[in-house]
Amino acid sequence: MKTTRQKLTILGATGSIGVSTLDVVGRHPDRYEVVALTGNSRIDALQEQCLRHRPRYAVVGREADATDLARRLRAAGLATEVLAGPQALEFVAALPEVDAVMAAIVGAAGLQPTLAAVRAGKRVLLANKEALVMAGELFMAEVRAHGAVLLPIDSEHNAVFQSLPADYAGDPARAGVSHLLLTASGGPFRAAPLERLRAVTPDEACAHPNWSMGRKISVDSATMMNKGLEVIEAHWLFDVAPDQIQVVIHPQSVIHSLVQYVDGSVLAELGNPDMRTPIAHALAWPERIAAGVAPLDLAAVAQLNFEQPDLERFPCLALAYRALRAGGNAPTVLNAANEIAVAAFLEGGLPFLAIADVIAATLDALPVAAVPDLRAILAADARARAVAQDLVARWPA
Ligand code: NAD
Ligand code: MG
Repeated sequence: MKTTRQKLTILGATGSIGVSTLDVVGRHPDRYEVVALTGNSRIDALQEQCLRHRPRYAVVGREADATDLARRLRAAGLATEVLAGPQALEFVAALPEVDAVMAAIVGAAGLQPTLAAVRAGKRVLLANKEALVMAGELFMAEVRAHGAVLLPIDSEHNAVFQSLPADYAGDPARAGVSHLLLTASGGPFRAAPLERLRAVTPDEACAHPNWSMGRKISVDSATMMNKGLEVIEAHWLFDVAPDQIQVVIHPQSVIHSLVQYVDGSVLAELGNPDMRTPIAHALAWPERIAAGVAPLDLAAVAQLNFEQPDLERFPCLALAYRALRAGGNAPTVLNAANEIAVAAFLEGGLPFLAIADVIAATLDALPVAAVPDLRAILAADARARAVAQDLVARWPA
């Protein structure tokens, strides 16, 4: 029997991962207590979540929305304190009474709140891969310095985590690991000819065959930049060299990733593609809890297929390897340029195939340099955004 419940802050509660997290949490009221929920602009959704989970704090993006939400919650008899802005995100990520923080804000906006949780030595459930991509070295140094427990939510990394020895301490040679195999669904355009990709619309790009996700990561899946970001994420999480991380297309998304050992053994984690599995795993680790996920029916799946990724149709994957090998500011630049290009594509201001071109041109424009501290990382991020924005503005329609 549990006597004390784990206290949680959920950053990005109104997003796809946040909603799945609250679904799992809601199944185990004896184990989890929600202390803080954050959402950027979807105030109605955040209000509903507050009514259900009664957090001590709620955080929104704008002051005006905070005033509005506070009034609504008071009218409903809730004592939730509503705060606004980036500082408030850091505040709720580092609250002394909080045990675990779900980092599920999308993009670079999640970096500083996630770092605040790391620096407060929390158990950090990391969905926000962009934070690790843009600041990998610093991020991992802070995890070690503050004794934070970092648990991957990204399904591939969670699968790798589950397939590594329980005492794995970032030394693949010692663990007998030869390489990691990250599976990729290939997204909605896996089999589409290059010519077809020219006219892709935002809604087509967001229609993922296996997973229902936020729009930014859905576009990343369609370009396969998502897998590129995940290669970089795997490098930092597991301390494996770029050459030891391979990508294999697996359209069914049933094998969530694999670890190849030197003796020829390959260990993997399988399941239905439902993010509640890695979320429940990380929430309860090292225990196991029910996640509401249907058991895997292999006979119904019938077939597991694999193929090599086509780097010509998916140049973003090659760009991510290039940035990882270059090191320094290159992954920060890659991530920033990708965020700008994807936002422009979603707004109808950039063709799908130009996303990779904008990222490549931004990497070309900015010399590789060391990023020794957070200031340097934020400066590299801002510079790359400006360069990419300029390229987007001048892109031929
Ligand atoms: P989403 O767009 O559905 O949700 C994003 C959340 O972040 C929302 O709560 C939003 O309010 C908040 N947010 C956005 N911009 C913000 C800002 N400037 N300041 C504060 N909050 C802000 O995204 P998602 O699909 O839930 O993805 C979240 C993260 O998890 C991403 O980094 C994504 O790569 C990662 N991830 C998602 C999935 C998935 O299945 N959805 C799987 C693996 C990893
Ligand atoms: Mg993933």
